[in-house]
Amino acid sequence: MYRIGFGIDFHQLQEGRDLWIGGVKIPHHKGAVGHSDADVLLHAICDALLGALALGDIGVHFPNTDKAYKNIDSKILLKHCYNLIAEKGYAIINVDSSICLETPKIMKYAPEMISLIAGILQVAVSDISIKATTTEKMGFAGREEGLFAYANVLLQKRS
Ligand SMILES: [Zn+2]
Repeated sequence: MYRIGFGIDFHQLQEGRDLWIGGVKIPHHKGAVGHSDADVLLHAICDALLGALALGDIGVHFPNTDKAYKNIDSKILLKHCYNLIAEKGYAIINVDSSICLETPKIMKYAPEMISLIAGILQVAVSDISIKATTTEKMGFAGREEGLFAYANVLLQKRS
């Protein structure tokens, strides 16, 4: 039995914040704003995992009003989401994702992101895809006011 999930996430970018994407801290003069470490890619993957099994969304599981999640490492949130689907007897077949931001160039960090995510999700690195694009200078991402990410995940019930 197969289940497909989709996730999307957005964050503002501001001076003086750290920029965490895919579990990796990326050197940049701006960082993402959020209650947690504001890792847009890991949040999109969390929502895809939850969505695949109709378990609600990341805001339900990790309310931004809960002090426990203040500045939390989103790898912990991803691990929690993985545990939820594993407890229900599902394994991940693959993850495909795209990150959209104007600057900086992030693809040189993709192998490190993929390795981290594959480790948390218990899959091979070849089962995790991370792509990056810009909005060709249009809109909030083009003005470097924010960034966003999409993720799809396919799950299979273990026999
Ligand atoms: Zn987020």
